Amino acid sequence: MRLNIANALPDSLADIPATALADELGGPTLFDLRRGNHPPLFVSVLLHGNEVSGWDAVRGLLDELGQISTLLFLANLDAAREGVRALPGQVDFNRVWEGGDSSEAAVAAEVTARVAAANPYLAVDIHNNTGQNPPYSVICRTDRRTLEFASAFAERALLASQPGGVQTRRFTRFCTAVTVEVGTPDDPDSATRTTEFLAKLLASYPEAPADTRRPEALRLFETVARVTVNDDTEIEPAMQRFNFRRAPAGTALTRRGPLNAQSADGTPIGGRYFTANDGAAVLTRPTILAMYTRDVESARRDCLCYFLEPLETRSDAETPRLTNA
Ligand SMILES: [Zn+2]
Repeated sequence: MRLNIANALPDSLADIPATALADELGGPTLFDLRRGNHPPLFVSVLLHGNEVSGWDAVRGLLDELGQISTLLFLANLDAAREGVRALPGQVDFNRVWEGGDSSEAAVAAEVTARVAAANPYLAVDIHNNTGQNPPYSVICRTDRRTLEFASAFAERALLASQPGGVQTRRFTRFCTAVTVEVGTPDDPDSATRTTEFLAKLLASYPEAPADTRRPEALRLFETVARVTVNDDTEIEPAMQRFNFRRAPAGTALTRRGPLNAQSADGTPIGGRYFTANDGAAVLTRPTILAMYTRDVESARRDCLCYFLEPLETRSDAETPRLTNA
């Protein structure tokens, strides 16, 4: 895998669906569409190849994005061609931004260096969920500007301390950065919602949209555990209904089989939350879930869900809070 750099958009790129981008562009491509000294907007799509809503929104706004100053990264096009998160045996392209030996990590390092040098006013990484969740932003610090852009996308935001190697955490070191989780890829509202968000950013460039600049109204959560499965764990798709809601004690998190939960520093903390009961993992205390997936493959390759705690929305512009940055 090698990074392509391009300074202009090919004609008719807007007509090309995510599955055909690899044939058109060859591989991961950073479009450098900066204009003069205007601070660029950085937009990243398809870090996960099957999460197409970001590209579907971006390709409808290519002219507009080209008129402000933009850096656009189209990431895992080989996986997109196959309609999968990552190719078999390939590392996850959103776990390589803080280092590693893979070719994806090398591409990520080159993109990071180029974007950092361009001094963007905002970096947006667009993802779909594999489970039913309300739309939300993922942020890695809680300074006022980050909260303003997060609240411009959705009323919920996650302050994420894990997993490691995500682009937004790396980019938070040099610019305001948010991940937007726009919904499932099969829901047409996901692309519509993304288009609306990008259009707002374009209209308010380079500030946060004034009408939604209400970080006080943001419902902010913190990830306290990442929950993973074993090979024989049978997941319970109905648990998706508790994403961003508190599931009561006694709720079975799985149909069968054990779970593991880890805090950001890798400490096993499953015992604080669930116990084995009749072969299933059952909550021992009310717990807010997020990103509970209905897709067994995603659960195995990445994780089943996260546990959250609500956080007070209090931005502190003087001493931005950095989590594991
Ligand atoms: Zn993703």
